[in-house]
Amino acid sequence: MILDHDVVVLGAGLAGMRAALEAARGGANVAVLSKVHPVRSHSGAAQGGINAAIGAGDSWEIHAFDTIKGSDYLADQDAVEIMTSEAPQDIIELEHMGVIFYRDDEGRLGTRAFGGASKARTYFVGDITGQALLYTLYDQILKADVKVYEEWFATALYAPDGTCRGVVAIDMLSGELNLVRAKAVIVATGGMGRVYEPSTNALICTGDGIALAYRIGAPLMDMEMVQYHPTTLKGSGFLMTEAARGEGAFLLNKDGERFMQRYAPKMMELASRDVVSRAETVEIAEGRGIDGNVLLDLRHLGADLIMSKLPQIHEIALDFLGIDMITDPVPVRPGMHYIMGGVKTDVNGASPIPGLYSAGECACVSVHGGNRLGANSLLDTLVFGRRSGKAATEFVKTVTSPASGEDFLAGEQRRIAALMTRPYTGETHARLRLELGTLMDEKVGVYRDEAGLNEALAGVQALKRRYASVAVGDKSRIYNQALTFVLELGFMLDCAEATIYGAITRKESRGAQSRTDYPQRNDAEWLKHVVIRYGDGGPPKIDYQPVTITKWPPQERTY
Ligand SMILES: Cc1cc2nc3c(=O)[nH]c(=O)nc-3n(C[C@H](O)[C@H](O)[C@H](O)COP(=O)(O)OP(=O)(O)OC[C@H]3O[C@@H](n4cnc5c(N)ncnc54)[C@H](O)[C@@H]3O)c2cc1C
Repeated sequence: MILDHDVVVLGAGLAGMRAALEAARGGANVAVLSKVHPVRSHSGAAQGGINAAIGAGDSWEIHAFDTIKGSDYLADQDAVEIMTSEAPQDIIELEHMGVIFYRDDEGRLGTRAFGGASKARTYFVGDITGQALLYTLYDQILKADVKVYEEWFATALYAPDGTCRGVVAIDMLSGELNLVRAKAVIVATGGMGRVYEPSTNALICTGDGIALAYRIGAPLMDMEMVQYHPTTLKGSGFLMTEAARGEGAFLLNKDGERFMQRYAPKMMELASRDVVSRAETVEIAEGRGIDGNVLLDLRHLGADLIMSKLPQIHEIALDFLGIDMITDPVPVRPGMHYIMGGVKTDVNGASPIPGLYSAGECACVSVHGGNRLGANSLLDTLVFGRRSGKAATEFVKTVTSPASGEDFLAGEQRRIAALMTRPYTGETHARLRLELGTLMDEKVGVYRDEAGLNEALAGVQALKRRYASVAVGDKSRIYNQALTFVLELGFMLDCAEATIYGAITRKESRGAQSRTDYPQRNDAEWLKHVVIRYGDGGPPKIDYQPVTITKWPPQERTY
């Protein structure tokens, strides 16, 4: 089947739905496509909150500086200025849409402290902020009559003549492959957490849109910048929100010492995530951890605060480790959480490919640079979701409807059919996926070096060769997740390779990229973005982009 819309948004997380809402408001015929029901998107798992400088004594300039310092000066400052100055109006709009933010005793919107922030500017709904936002935006897109293709899995972007003109997707319910043509496509497919094991991300966060855009020639930027969150639960890797430390929780080593006093004497547990993750890694490596973990201690916060402001993580620790955080500290370790890099865009979400826009975690504007501050990602999805929706709507007024596409759809149908009939050779997607994740966590994690990165690259290339013989176990059409798992693994391998190339290229330590063989930040040579383009069989092409500095020249970064 071939369908037509002006704007097609790929992804129904916060970025995708906010983009769709803006496009609908602008009068475009807009559709959203999502491989899961919209409210099952990973945005719904966001716990801690969303940043904006609204309160007395705060300003968007202070928020901008905190963000830029947090990014280790790799963020583009013009983009950060836009994000932080537009933040207050976006939060207030969400409130007016119906998000029930926490209010203080005087009835004002209440905040909590978050890592790397010099003011408490994180607005929240308990520890289910993402869920509250996501449901509200879903209401809004239904109200705005946005067409939703739910449980449609995108397999390719349609890009004739160097422009992006639609998406091919499997309707999971029927197994049918369809082409959804558009004058503009906004890729908002979220992160790629599952390229690492363990990760805080949902199992669906497999980097699909990043790989799809990359394959049609879109440049990827800052891919080496992978954020490890300091507090992920022992074993499962579930997130224990930074809000716990924002509310006053301590980090302890096996001697009961608040070790952050040796690494970040001013900000302690609320230093930037890269700083805290490195500190924990050193404590564990030097024998002051407990079974590969450190302890998150909330006991002094008391049952009332924990049960009113952090009920979800209380339940998770109880369910998965049998630990009641009211009475006992919780073992945690740094775990893969977020990617700062993604599809390179301008401040309106436009990629260099005409008709291709991107927003949210899969995009790189770049507002997070080398390290994202907690609660700045939900903000990024809303500000740049909105801006990309607006820009795409303007763009579609200038272009004609796309050309046929039947041949392209038929080619995709043949490709998927060939995949379905590939014989079983003993290689399974599940084994490869686990090997990939483990390799990335070991070699491309908190600390990196040339030898380990080269091993990771050789390892991913070997996995790619083995991937070519992975068969799809289930031959049926309806809800064939065996097929989508195999397709996801292909996306993940492309994302992993780009990440490793980025990490090998950047010969310095900055933000989340800590090279033990190049331990210093080197502004003279590396105050620039690494940009990676698809090599189509050969190695990727590597290029650089200057960092935009407006008011904040790079300084030494201490917390
Ligand atoms: C556990 C957790 C807690 C977090 N807490 C916070 C927080 O408190 N504050 C904060 O600022 N940030 C937080 N973050 C980060 C933040 O939640 C995410 O970066 C953000 O929500 C990403 O939103 P998104 O719209 O870009 O993508 P997502 O919400 O991940 O949505 C992606 C969408 O793309 C669709 N999709 C993907 N691939 C395909 C495909 N092949 N075909 C069709 N559709 C596809 C999916 O179905 C989904 O609808 C947290 C992240 C995690 C994992």
